Amino acid sequence: GAKADGKARAQIFHAQMDIDYHYRQRLKADLRQAVADGALTLAFQPQLDIETRKIVSCEALARWTHPELGPVSPATFIPMAEEMGLISDITAFVVESATRECAQWAGPVGVAVNVSARDFRGLDLLTVVSRSLDRAGLPANRLEIEVTETAVIEERDLANSVLQGLADRGIVIALDDFGTGYSSLSYLNALPFNKLKIDRSFVADIGKDPRALLLLSNVARLGRDLDLTVVAEGVETEEQLELMQGMTRVQQVQGYFFSRPLPSRDIAELIARMNGGVESAQKAKRHRVVNGR
Ligand code: C2E
Ligand code: MG
Ligand code: MG
Ligand code: MG
Repeated sequence: GAKADGKARAQIFHAQMDIDYHYRQRLKADLRQAVADGALTLAFQPQLDIETRKIVSCEALARWTHPELGPVSPATFIPMAEEMGLISDITAFVVESATRECAQWAGPVGVAVNVSARDFRGLDLLTVVSRSLDRAGLPANRLEIEVTETAVIEERDLANSVLQGLADRGIVIALDDFGTGYSSLSYLNALPFNKLKIDRSFVADIGKDPRALLLLSNVARLGRDLDLTVVAEGVETEEQLELMQGMTRVQQVQGYFFSRPLPSRDIAELIARMNGGVESAQKAKRHRVVNGR
C-alpha cells in the first residue's frame, strides 16, 4: 500500500543520506590533505575580444583530481573548502600560481582569479596579491579579481574596502555570474567594478528565443553605460557568438566554443598560436621543453 511504499522510500532516502554523508566526510578529509600536499592544480580558460578574436585574458580555475575518485568539480570542493576554513589557502595558492603562469605567456594577456566571500575576512588579499605580482614581475593591471554578487552581499562593508584597496592598486575587479544572485543593481555603482561577467544563463537561449537575446543585449548595454567592460560567459556555439557580435554590445567572450579550461602548458601554446606569430609559438614550445612538460 501507499504507507509501505512511503516507508520503503524513506529508508532508501535515509540510506542515500548516509552514503552522501560518509562520502562528503571522506571528501573533506581528503581535500584537507590535498591542500596541505599542494595537490590542487589550475586550468585556464581564455576570454577573447569579440572583434579581434585575440585572447585578452584567461580565467584560472581550481582543479582537484582525487587519487581514487577522479576529478572532483569545484562546484563540490570549493563550498566544502569554504565550510572547512580552507578557502584562503586555496585562494593564496591560486593567486600565486596564476600570476606566475601569466608572466610566462606571450604578450600582455591578463589572468583572472576567483575569490570567495570568506576571503574578505580570512585572507589579507592585498598582501597576497601584491607579493604575487612582485614575485611574478607582473603589472597590476594584468590581474583580475572575480567576485560574485552573493559574495559581495554577504560581506558588504569588508568587500567594499578590500576591493577598493585592490582597485586603487590598479587591479581589475570583475563582477562574476552577473544576473544569478540578488540582482540588486545599486552596488554595481557603489563598488569599484571594472568588468561585468554576464552569467551563461543569459547566453544559453539567445539562438532560440528573441526575448533572451533582447535581455542579454539590455544587460550588456547597462554594463557599457556604467563604463564596465562587458564579458559574456558560456558561449558554446558560433551562432551565439555571431548574434552577440551583431546584436549586443558585449566586448569579450568566454566559453566552450573557443576553448575548455586547459592545463597550463596547453594554454601557453594556445595563446602563442592565437595571439602571436610563428615566432612566439616556437618560443612557447621551447618553454614547454625547458620545463620538461
Ligand atoms: P565561474 O567562476 O563562473 O567559472 C566559469 C565556469 O563555467 C567554469 O566551471 C567553466 O569551466 C564553466 N564554463 C566555461 N565555459 C562554459 C560553457 O561554454 N558552457 C558551460 N556549461 N560551462 C562553461 P568550473 O571550472 O567547473 O568552476 C565552477 C565554479 O567554481 C566557478 O564558476 C567558480 O565559481 C568556482 N571556482 C573554480 N575555481 C575556483 C577558485 O580557484 N576559487 C574560487 N573561490 N572559486 C572557484
Ligand atoms: Mg569566475
Ligand atoms: Mg562566472
Ligand atoms: Mg559561473
